[in-house]
Amino acid sequence: MHKKKHNRPWAIFIAIVLAMIFGSWAGNQATLFGITFYAIVDVLGTIFLNALTLVVVPLVSSSIITGISRIGNEGGFGRLGGKMFTFYIGTSVLAILIGLLFVNLIHPGSSHLTSLSEETTQSPPFKDQITHPGGEAFVQVLISIIPSNILAAFSRGEMLGLIFFSFLFGYAISKIEKHPASVLQGFFQGIFQAMIQVTHIIMKFLPYGVFSLVAKVFMTTGIRSLGALALFSLTVLLGLLVFMCIGLPLLLKFIARVKPIRHFKAMAPALVTAFSTSSSSATLPVTIDCVEKRAGVSNRICSLVVPLGTSINMSGSALYECVAAIFVAQAYGIDLSFWTQFLIVLMALITSIGVAGIPSASLVAIIIILKMVGLPSEGIGLFVAVDRLLDMCRTTVNVFSDSCCAILVARSEGEENVLATNQFE
Ligand code: ASP
Repeated sequence: MHKKKHNRPWAIFIAIVLAMIFGSWAGNQATLFGITFYAIVDVLGTIFLNALTLVVVPLVSSSIITGISRIGNEGGFGRLGGKMFTFYIGTSVLAILIGLLFVNLIHPGSSHLTSLSEETTQSPPFKDQITHPGGEAFVQVLISIIPSNILAAFSRGEMLGLIFFSFLFGYAISKIEKHPASVLQGFFQGIFQAMIQVTHIIMKFLPYGVFSLVAKVFMTTGIRSLGALALFSLTVLLGLLVFMCIGLPLLLKFIARVKPIRHFKAMAPALVTAFSTSSSSATLPVTIDCVEKRAGVSNRICSLVVPLGTSINMSGSALYECVAAIFVAQAYGIDLSFWTQFLIVLMALITSIGVAGIPSASLVAIIIILKMVGLPSEGIGLFVAVDRLLDMCRTTVNVFSDSCCAILVARSEGEENVLATNQFE
């Protein structure tokens, strides 16, 4: 495993706490020389986010092409794919069931019964985007897997199309003559390694980026907004916490047979990036770096499991969708039968696959679920005020869950290097 100087975790932790305090204190009106602090952190945060996002397309494509062109020679696609999807689905189902348990135990919607009529008058921000409810939305995801123009897919950063093409291209490299194949492999390996270096440079600015992004959220959505929806927020946070700190570590300990604490430490930079950006796609370069260079998973497994997981394995979002849909039903005083709850669980699993790794993407999926089970889509107006803060938390869980799937697959493939040293202890 590569030993490298890693980010000072305390600097980042302090940045988050300071950003929360500063953001809540400054609000979006306080100024410095006539310029609002909000405008300053907005510009800095956007620059940091752009810097992270610019790495995604070249890093993901070169990572997959390099990884697949190697497995192509060895075979075993089916076995790897089977394990990968088993862990994706397994972790998401576990997350949803934990959410289902807490939402039924705490019943957060009951306290909203009385104020329902005024609150639902807020219109959901994403309502106009729901042109393809339910099944059609799923079909759109399927269609986007195969882009008709690869350059367009690359330039728009369409992840599923990009992954599919890189997969195909990597496989094709493994089937061509030795000389051109090794030239291409070397070329893409070079791009991959260079992009990892670029990621390291960007990560030097992590504390400042994290500060700007978190402060911006707290300037507009203060922590007080959680208070109005305390029970709902508590249900979501408890569910996410139990899944991340008990559910996944148990899988790591008993199935992967690694020390969960080491994995938390290895993934720390990716987790804080996810928390501050609310975007698992923007976090992807840092996730790949942590899984490969800090947790010691091979490029062969990481290049496949992490980018694909970032696109389709959204355990935290799936949990949130389930809790939110049942919360709306409870607030409307609708008693959900076992089968309706089962349908919500199933829909949360399916729609989470289509959720993009960008902020607030789950809201669209929740509207689809509400429509499917016959609840008014306006229901999301009930909790939209706390969505951003909860988004930060569920994105962190999404990223952690993907990284755990990579560890689980790598260990099941017999990789001994995974979290083998105690460099973080
Ligand atoms: N923000 C989440 C992510 O990027 C998606 C969501 O649940 O809204 O992973």
